Amino acid sequence: MSIRILVVDDLSFMRTAIREIIEASGFGVAGEAENGVEGIMLYRERRPDVVLMDITMPVMDGIESLRRIVDYDPKARVIMCSALGQQEYIIRAIQYGARDFIVKPFRPERIVSAVRKVAKVRE
Ligand SMILES: [Mg+2]
Repeated sequence: MSIRILVVDDLSFMRTAIREIIEASGFGVAGEAENGVEGIMLYRERRPDVVLMDITMPVMDGIESLRRIVDYDPKARVIMCSALGQQEYIIRAIQYGARDFIVKPFRPERIVSAVRKVAKVRE
């Protein structure tokens, strides 16, 4: 069964770009959310193998969404995706249980290798 990924990002063009990378790599998209609250709801509903989580979003940011998802499911595999200049969030994200941290703009291979690495833990 292919790895199913939940994409959480407020920018629709970013979600589309990530979806294309995911589908071209043979993974599946479990869902798309545009803020942290939707991300939590879809996590509970779809139980994705991996979450790709933006940080800066309206309603609820990715750090708080990460914290709540890991609180709900300590085995959650969440990869944070942040813009350049947000590296100060790395330590907090790791403390809250993020499994990896990708800096935008990213190359497609970076997403694919992070997903493979993080998903392997569950196998
Ligand atoms: Mg954003």
